[in-house]
Amino acid sequence: MVVFQWRFQWRGLYGRIKDYITWKISQIVLTFYTLTFNTHMDQNYIIDCLLEPIFWFVDNFAGNLGKVFVFCVTVLTTAVVTIAYWVGLPYWWQKNEYITVFLVVFGNWLLLNIVFHYYMGVSTPPGYPPHGSMISEAASICKKCISPKPPRTHHCSVCDRCVLAMDHHCPWLNNCVGYFNVRYFYLYMAYMVAGVAFVIIAGLDLGYQVLWVNDTGGLTQEHDPDLIGHPVRMNQSGVLVPVQVIAEYDSENSPREHHLPTPVITEAQRITAHPWKRKAVVFMAVTCLSVFFALGTLIIMHGKNISKGETSVEAHINASLRKLDKNQFRNPYNFGRKKNWKLFLGLTQGRTFFRNVLFPSKHPPSGNGLTWHTIHNAIEDWP
Ligand SMILES: [Zn+2]
Ligand SMILES: [Zn+2]
Repeated sequence: MVVFQWRFQWRGLYGRIKDYITWKISQIVLTFYTLTFNTHMDQNYIIDCLLEPIFWFVDNFAGNLGKVFVFCVTVLTTAVVTIAYWVGLPYWWQKNEYITVFLVVFGNWLLLNIVFHYYMGVSTPPGYPPHGSMISEAASICKKCISPKPPRTHHCSVCDRCVLAMDHHCPWLNNCVGYFNVRYFYLYMAYMVAGVAFVIIAGLDLGYQVLWVNDTGGLTQEHDPDLIGHPVRMNQSGVLVPVQVIAEYDSENSPREHHLPTPVITEAQRITAHPWKRKAVVFMAVTCLSVFFALGTLIIMHGKNISKGETSVEAHINASLRKLDKNQFRNPYNFGRKKNWKLFLGLTQGRTFFRNVLFPSKHPPSGNGLTWHTIHNAIEDWP
């Protein structure tokens, strides 16, 4: 008679489980590849697929989103300026009247430039290739418009048309940034950064006093409404309370007329004690610092492109061209940093930095955005 004895082999159990799981995983991976294999599948394709919902959203709602963004910029700017006058002005006036006058003039010069360049950036069309007429130079054909594209022109999928020297589509301006409005866009950012830097510097001590020192000088939020405009006395625990009946006056210890120094309440203490002014200071700190760092990064990035004579679109294209052939590639629109900036700011035909950059100026860029001078064909004395 034969007796079978089943025994569980504990030894090597871990190794067997591991082998089994590895085998199952490779089965699943193989199945996935078999079902989804595509010769065109690569990283870019996957990223494009994942971004598809965002593109769809932008395509369908960017029109309305742009209006919301412009509204937000307007409201935020108005709020910052209002608070600067409401909280900052009395604070500085108590400190020094002459500095206050200077700050108001300087601040309004920045504000004038911010408003002007923003308005022009929003309302100036970026420039489009002419419809139905010949263009003297075409770099390629737009697959979406089915029409020739002048050099440096690119198709904007939000505007659904070709844009001259397209930089990018800007929801904050609700407009494409291109040939005719890129200067307004850039100077708007530059003045905005200068503006918030101005508010941050002018409000630095105020912010420190209100948010850090946090001294109300005896003014308390709870008592304020009761105390303002009422006779007061100090009770035994040192808290100011309103006087209800005339008999509460202690004419010996607190006579109505005296020559003792009265405590001076500073504007910073008044702001600290004021619930809304204190909140406004917090709002200013958060808004101005965020805008400073966000737009500060952007002006540096765009500034680098301008120095190299590139639009944002070209910066991407040229970066990949440079990778392909490091020694051979030369950007044909790079005339050297100084001239690139001169051309960008439109400082040609006797225009000056003082008049045409430091103050609002509607001068158009030189040229028409359809044909371009390059380093190969630039005339000697141009611009
Ligand atoms: Zn197009
Ligand atoms: Zn656009």
